Amino acid sequence: MRSNSAWLNRDFWVCRNHLPVVRYRAGTQKCWYHGCQSVRPSENARPEKIEEPVAPPPPPEPEPEQEMCAWKDCGKPARPGSKYCSRNCSNKNARYRHRLRKRSDDEDDEDEAEAIA
Ligand SMILES: [Zn+2]
Ligand SMILES: [Zn+2]
Repeated sequence: MRSNSAWLNRDFWVCRNHLPVVRYRAGTQKCWYHGCQSVRPSENARPEKIEEPVAPPPPPEPEPEQEMCAWKDCGKPARPGSKYCSRNCSNKNARYRHRLRKRSDDEDDEDEAEAIA
């Protein structure tokens, strides 16, 4: 039996003298079957290494719970220890609430409720 081998991919080659074909690692020089003449296919014919598909990056670490600025139109994170991202937002919110209060005097204001209790 003459050599009848072929590369399966870069890491394996097969001897086709058998059914099913016999698979060998690239490091194996010849077919192990007794009487088989197959040798490893030529290095020239060896397929290029197939690039592994790049694994998608792991999902980002969940952000630590971040308080957002209490001002309704602001999307920025609040400063540590503050309900607002900035003095500006604090002022805006105060003015806004002040206007609301003028419109409906009997509406509960949680800050005032806390102060009384
Ligand atoms: Zn063989
Ligand atoms: Zn803000």
